[in-house]
Amino acid sequence: MNIAHDLKRTAQHGGSLVAIGHGTEVWCNYREFAAMAARGATWLAQQGVQPGARVALFLHNRPEYLPLLWSVWWAGAVAVPINAKLHPKEAAWIAAHSGSRCIFADDDDRPALQGALLDERHEALVETGFTHLVDHALPEAPVAERAEHDAAWLFYTSGTTGRPKGVELGARQLRWQSMGLYAAVQAVEPGEVALHPAPLSHGGGMLHLPYVTYGGINVVPKSHGFDADECLALAAHWQRASFFAAPTMVKRLVQAAKSSGRRPLGLATICYGGGPMYLADLEEALQVIGPHFSQIYGQGECPMTITAMPRHLINRLCQQRPQGWREHLASVGVAQVMVELSVRDPQGQPVPAGDTGEVCVRGDVVMNGYWQQPEATAAAIVDGWLKTGDVGRLDEQGFLTLLDRSKDLIISGGTNIYPREVEEALLMHDDVSEAAVIGRPDAEWGEQVVAYVVARSGLTEATLDAHCLDHIARFKRPKHYRFVAELPKNHYGKVLKTTLREWDAQHAA
Ligand code: AMP
Repeated sequence: MNIAHDLKRTAQHGGSLVAIGHGTEVWCNYREFAAMAARGATWLAQQGVQPGARVALFLHNRPEYLPLLWSVWWAGAVAVPINAKLHPKEAAWIAAHSGSRCIFADDDDRPALQGALLDERHEALVETGFTHLVDHALPEAPVAERAEHDAAWLFYTSGTTGRPKGVELGARQLRWQSMGLYAAVQAVEPGEVALHPAPLSHGGGMLHLPYVTYGGINVVPKSHGFDADECLALAAHWQRASFFAAPTMVKRLVQAAKSSGRRPLGLATICYGGGPMYLADLEEALQVIGPHFSQIYGQGECPMTITAMPRHLINRLCQQRPQGWREHLASVGVAQVMVELSVRDPQGQPVPAGDTGEVCVRGDVVMNGYWQQPEATAAAIVDGWLKTGDVGRLDEQGFLTLLDRSKDLIISGGTNIYPREVEEALLMHDDVSEAAVIGRPDAEWGEQVVAYVVARSGLTEATLDAHCLDHIARFKRPKHYRFVAELPKNHYGKVLKTTLREWDAQHAA
């Protein structure tokens, strides 16, 4: 079934419900939203976009984003959302790789994008697409026929290494992840609000799906991005507001709430994920912002749907403090209902509870495969199990603790050291605001542990060394520290360990 039926259904029974907000303003209701998508679909068909054709969206978050995206689905085409913060050359590469013949792009980016498309020798129609949504001369198209399995979203992974791969998701995966968000993050009914400070092109943007399916309100901030003060003000305005926030965004929200001197109002759920949330940061966020947090662990290949820690679970752990509650709070929670989870050894065998291995997941929500990369697909999905590339351990109660990406594991003197554990320890020091740990090649040990630290002031190596000795095994503590003003991060706020290793190699040389 075409995912566009979700919008059509909501518009039929709840046409006058507020659908999209822009800042504090109402931008459109569901009747208008569906009409825009249906007119956009007609325009796409007139351009020769057939069901199954790819249409890229290289746009900043803006209210038009959603009707454009849904017009692509309404037409039966495949959306290729591209993060607007990418370089036009990177966007052109994705457009060419996905074979997108039509690209919706912001006015400011169009000249550079068109130049980059020429370099890629890729011909495509580049438009903002906005005028067609409101062109009443265009008839409203019927929803195109699509099967559950047919591609609907090509999700180009953030690519902290190498070229991004296009994860192919159909209506089936989108619907499963939408229900997963409904169940594990926030149940949606009319009036419930999703704010979109994180790029709509990425995992956080998928949070908009259950709000369309169940008649909630999607609100795009006027800054078209993340501004902590704006986000908190929007929550206070709209009420019952939820949003996705990467851990770095949560830190900034905490700072904003602290400087305002009071607890934020109007929040339902802040869903964190996308990267490790350190326990010290979570505890501070709960204290300053309140019991509004839930967590999702997923990846493009299994979108937002591997494990979750719903708000009620986090709050129960904090209130009742059962045995092991701090470890559970630092975990990524328990398997979501639509997946089977298994931690496996390099031979693909499940390891006993408590042992570390690669996190593997199986279920209807796992991607169809990588777009036109059968070899990469075969390497990622083995015997029906998606190999996530994340290292973790499952305990007897089903909580999954993530240690690291397998490529980030440090092996020193033959012993495995998980950077995450060292980072957790460093962040427990009051003067450390950010920390990232990598392995430096070493002739004697194989690798040595090196910590890059963003510290408040006057902090010394000796102090941090003593602090680590208090918290982690001696062999895990960093042999070298480097104090830096900031850590290298990608557009989603994830620390780029590859860049950090390059910095470190230059420094060591
Ligand atoms: P992407 O496909 O770009 O969204 O990246 C997915 C990767 O981000 C996962 O494989 C994990 O390594 C990491 N990640 C996602 N969610 C979490 C989380 N809640 N905690 C820790 N790491 C996460």
